[in-house]
Amino acid sequence: MTRLMGFRWPSRFPQTWWSRPTGGSSGLINFQGPAPATDGENPTLSPPTSFRWPSPTDYVAITEWYVPQQSDSVPVVHYLYPELAGNAGAFGVTVPAMGDLASRFGPYPFPEEKYGQALFPLGGAMEHQTCTSMGGWAAYGGWEWIIVHELGHQWRGDMVTCASFHDVWLNEGFATYGEALGQEVEGGVGAYHAAMAGNAYWGGGTVYVENPEADDIFDYGLSYQKGAHVLHMLRHVVGDSPCFRRPEGIRRAVCLLVGPHRRSSGGR
Ligand SMILES: [Zn+2]
Repeated sequence: MTRLMGFRWPSRFPQTWWSRPTGGSSGLINFQGPAPATDGENPTLSPPTSFRWPSPTDYVAITEWYVPQQSDSVPVVHYLYPELAGNAGAFGVTVPAMGDLASRFGPYPFPEEKYGQALFPLGGAMEHQTCTSMGGWAAYGGWEWIIVHELGHQWRGDMVTCASFHDVWLNEGFATYGEALGQEVEGGVGAYHAAMAGNAYWGGGTVYVENPEADDIFDYGLSYQKGAHVLHMLRHVVGDSPCFRRPEGIRRAVCLLVGPHRRSSGGR
């Protein structure tokens, strides 16, 4: 997820908000449950209610193809508003980035379906499995790093995800780290280190979210930037072995790093 909106996502009740779609017909997606009442920076819980979300249905679908080395081609579909149908070039980084990330994370996880990106009428982006929602500004160019970030979530966040929002850095840290890995493939180790330096975080705090109901689980400095640097450090520890590319290898590497701490702090 990449958040560019002027208000905070309702992180106090993420599961409730995301998990109750009750229908998507007639161009509307209906939700029931606590709606996000936002007043600037302070989202608050509101009584149970429902709200509707417009879902444009008149997309123009433009398809490219990602051709892996050892499997069938995968369609890469850009769902654009009709008036922006000529702007598919703004997503041109997608196909090469699929190859770049596959070289680091392993094969694209959903080759029998597709990878899609659909414009939606909000800022930011959301990494839905096989079809990411992209804010409309993406069609005007300059969103390459966001495109790569959301694509990275297909491996870490969609194929494999954290068990709870306490460890959401595993999703966001990996996606942010994927941005640097893409730079490495395209531009070499210097570009990789430059990307990591560009995502430096100098503040305090831990990537572990103590209270997902009250804390900002999408704190950019902690869940994204510091999370990416934890993986940067892990890569230094475990090296570039295939271990680093497989989910079970990552799990072992994370346990290697934080296991003793977890045991000494009560199994957090
Ligand atoms: Zn993300």
